[in-house]
Amino acid sequence: MSKDKVYNIIVVGAGVSGLFFSSINTSPGPKLIINNTVRTGLKLIASGGGQGNITNIVKIKEFIDKYGDNGKLIRKTLYKFNNLDLEQYLTGLGVETCIKDNNKVYLKEKPQNLIDKLLAKAKKNKFQLITEEEIVDIEYNGIFKIKSQGGTIYKCQQLIIATGGKSYPATGSNATIIPSLLRLGIAIKELKPALTPVFVKNYPFEDLAGVSINKVKIKVIDRKKHQEENSILFAHKYFTGPGILNISRYLESGTKIHINYCPDLNFEMAVGKLIKLKENNSIKTISSVSKTLNESEVVLPRRFIEKQLLRTELDDKGWLKEVSNNKLKDLMKLFFEDEYQVENTGGFKDSMVTAGGIALEEIDLNKYEVKKYPGMYIVGEALDIDGSTGGYNIQFAFSSAFVANLSITNNSKLV
Ligand SMILES: Cc1cc2nc3c(=O)[nH]c(=O)nc-3n(C[C@H](O)[C@H](O)[C@H](O)COP(=O)(O)OP(=O)(O)OC[C@H]3O[C@@H](n4cnc5c(N)ncnc54)[C@H](O)[C@@H]3O)c2cc1C
Repeated sequence: MSKDKVYNIIVVGAGVSGLFFSSINTSPGPKLIINNTVRTGLKLIASGGGQGNITNIVKIKEFIDKYGDNGKLIRKTLYKFNNLDLEQYLTGLGVETCIKDNNKVYLKEKPQNLIDKLLAKAKKNKFQLITEEEIVDIEYNGIFKIKSQGGTIYKCQQLIIATGGKSYPATGSNATIIPSLLRLGIAIKELKPALTPVFVKNYPFEDLAGVSINKVKIKVIDRKKHQEENSILFAHKYFTGPGILNISRYLESGTKIHINYCPDLNFEMAVGKLIKLKENNSIKTISSVSKTLNESEVVLPRRFIEKQLLRTELDDKGWLKEVSNNKLKDLMKLFFEDEYQVENTGGFKDSMVTAGGIALEEIDLNKYEVKKYPGMYIVGEALDIDGSTGGYNIQFAFSSAFVANLSITNNSKLV
């Protein structure tokens, strides 16, 4: 590598956003992609349980809410390259998709096939790929000088940071670029694990590991009243499943949450019905509770109902008529307003995305260019954007890379 060679563009990170950018960027060379791991696109491979959940078919306007408080700031980005544009681009590449699990769009073939196709296009666009090279420092004096851990210096006129977040660091996204950005005076919002399991004090469902409920409402007891309606999965030591993963971005040690396992039913009506059943006849507790609660489409698992009875010290074989009305109310509270204090959320090792990252105030979001450093672009999860489960993170990685490329080339036509 010639010491004085100045690349037109260097992309740091060959994950979803870096590969997509390189596959559509037709700027003149010389151009380089640098990735710290030997294999590229490892998170795309891990997504959707290994099946590549790349986006979602809900209307693009419904995407905005899925990115928490910062969602409204990326509205234009998502409209400029939306879920349908992504599907159209993939179809052009010869990559087929399918819809599964509640509106999620998956790749029909192995994610590796998409990575291979993106890499082939990048090569056609005259990008050279260097792997196992970690960039740890960036300097700017008219051109960008980026330095690898091994000491090699690469120079470029335009620099694309596509290094992802800090979660699942074994995939290469390890946030080693962050100190160099701080040295450049670029503000960073604290990095936190998101889409991660939640550990609570006095977790009662150890013996229900693997049991799930399709629709629960989880509320964060804070002033902003964040809430999430989705499924929950009981693991041996923690809550997980889409509902919990999505709300985890708002949780930290000490936060209180309520879980309503019957969001389609009314608490007062359920208590009233149970009391009526008690007054009318003498059926057993467990059958009465099941009858009262399993009226919506969601059927609560029997083992879960038994567990809640046990927590109220009710014998599922006991007679309903012997239970006081107050006790029945307490029992119903466990189904409608089960309260927990968060002990911890999972660490970066277990979290699918990273909340926080490069502060959006630093970025011109019409271009994804760093305001203080024209010519430097930051895209994807490295930014302070994290989405819910369901394809929203990968869609943002594609959309932001599209806008950065559009800003550099002024070319919105993708071939
Ligand atoms: C297990 C798992 C499942 C997921 N499932 C889904 C899902 O179903 N749907 C969805 O939308 N999202 C999912 N995600 C999240 C999604 O994969 C990411 O949000 C997305 O890949 C981010 O794209 P990116 O281009 O910003 O970063 P990444 O895809 O993480 O790419 C970053 C690249 O930069 C490289 N890199 C990092 N630092 C350096 C450095 N200093 N020097 C050189 N190279 C560097 C890394 O090796 C990597 O190749 C999942 C994530 C995980 C971990």
